[in-house]
Amino acid sequence: MTHCHDVIGIGFGPANLALAIAIEEEGYDLDARFLEARPGPSWQSAMMLDGSDIQNHPVRDLVSLRNPRSRYSFLNYLFENGRLLDHLNVPMEFPLRKEYAQYVTWAAGHFSRLVDYGVRVTGVALGRDAAGEPHYTVTTSRGETLHARALVIGTGRAPFIPAPFDAVASPRVFHLTRYLPALRHLEELGVAGPGDRAPRAVTVVGGSQSAVELTLDLARRFPRAQVTTLVRSLTLREKDTSPFSEEGYFPGFTDYYYRAPRARKDALDAYMRLTNYSSADGDVLRELYRLIYEQRLDGDQRVFVSGSRQVQGLDVREDGVRLDVEELNTGESEEHEADFVVLATGFRDLGPAGHQERVPALMREIADDFAFDEHGYLAVGPDYEVQPTAPETPALFLNGLCESSHGIGDAGSFSLLSLRAQTIADSLRKRLT
Ligand SMILES: Cc1cc2nc3c(=O)[nH]c(=O)nc-3n(C[C@H](O)[C@H](O)[C@H](O)COP(=O)(O)OP(=O)(O)OC[C@H]3O[C@@H](n4cnc5c(N)ncnc54)[C@H](O)[C@@H]3O)c2cc1C
Repeated sequence: MTHCHDVIGIGFGPANLALAIAIEEEGYDLDARFLEARPGPSWQSAMMLDGSDIQNHPVRDLVSLRNPRSRYSFLNYLFENGRLLDHLNVPMEFPLRKEYAQYVTWAAGHFSRLVDYGVRVTGVALGRDAAGEPHYTVTTSRGETLHARALVIGTGRAPFIPAPFDAVASPRVFHLTRYLPALRHLEELGVAGPGDRAPRAVTVVGGSQSAVELTLDLARRFPRAQVTTLVRSLTLREKDTSPFSEEGYFPGFTDYYYRAPRARKDALDAYMRLTNYSSADGDVLRELYRLIYEQRLDGDQRVFVSGSRQVQGLDVREDGVRLDVEELNTGESEEHEADFVVLATGFRDLGPAGHQERVPALMREIADDFAFDEHGYLAVGPDYEVQPTAPETPALFLNGLCESSHGIGDAGSFSLLSLRAQTIADSLRKRLT
């Protein structure tokens, strides 16, 4: 058998990057290898929109809650790049997304020796070496096979593409996680681009922060196009930013949520939902409302927000997309025409429901080796280790995928990333040394 690593981390986004930093800073002597599908370090590059800011307090970065003295903090990034004072003087509540992405890229750059970029993991299997020791076998898009005594899946959540969009394969219909590359592709196809190739009409589906950002971006990018945002709830809502609700992003809440029975978890989710989902920050809502108001004042409205709307069907044709839309309160049907449709329809959590995933995609082949609770949820320990059905199964951790077991603070955000990295690093060390 070829070399067996102590641990393979799949994905090198902020979650597994924070883990790599924690392993180094805690001085754990682990042979860790990370495999990342993207060609190089980046963060949310498909949504690097001009003017967009981040949604986390910048000090809740890759390291600071775990180790405020870390050299990989956002503040030290600014300092080492000669921008600390300039940054502190910017009249913005939160940093620009592009600046935070540069921070993540800078931090990842210190760990390139541990990462294979441009390598997508295509399969995960359980096996044994010649001495009968169990391990994981990981296959990659390059046709390689790697082995490890433990795995950490940090692949981010899968996009949620609801019906009827899930039955469509067309460059004219895409999820926000492909936004900028998809626009470039449409331009190459001659479907939509700048100048006289500008689209006539575009539809955004969803009521999240991203939906509002996309609406603003499309309105700026294609000022003559009609941009319509279809929202299932009554209209666009502001995030719950009460400091009391924000305590849902404290580690104490993670423990509290973890111990709650499923019915109470559902109740907590319902309460916390508006702190992160189906809602947007006040600044972008106000900007959008002002824009629409001014267009009306000018007698030239081109941006529309249509609430209580559900897309029931769509027809992708040579020259565009026709959407059959229901007004949920009156039951009336409408037809919308668009050159392309952007789906801001969210992400899939782990769980048994139709909009969830039973296991992360890479665990499908080995799902039977792991336990599920009586409600059909994958059994995950407090330290993010997935509970195996047999005790000799090597350790497998989920990093950033555990909202259904650990609550909103584990919604894949930066909020508790550094503390979760510490928990996983500590457990890896205990299991492997
Ligand atoms: C547009 C947008 C903006 C956001 N802004 C914020 C914000 O401001 N603040 C905040 O707290 N959260 C934000 N989030 C939430 C976001 O989930 C986190 O910021 C963060 O990206 C989570 O890190 P992660 O490592 O868990 O996942 P990701 O960032 O998704 O990283 C996962 C990595 O795994 C790689 N990967 C996936 N599958 C494979 C495979 N099979 N093989 C190899 N590699 C693979 C991917 O290429 C990716 O690089 C935002 C999300 C979006 C979509």
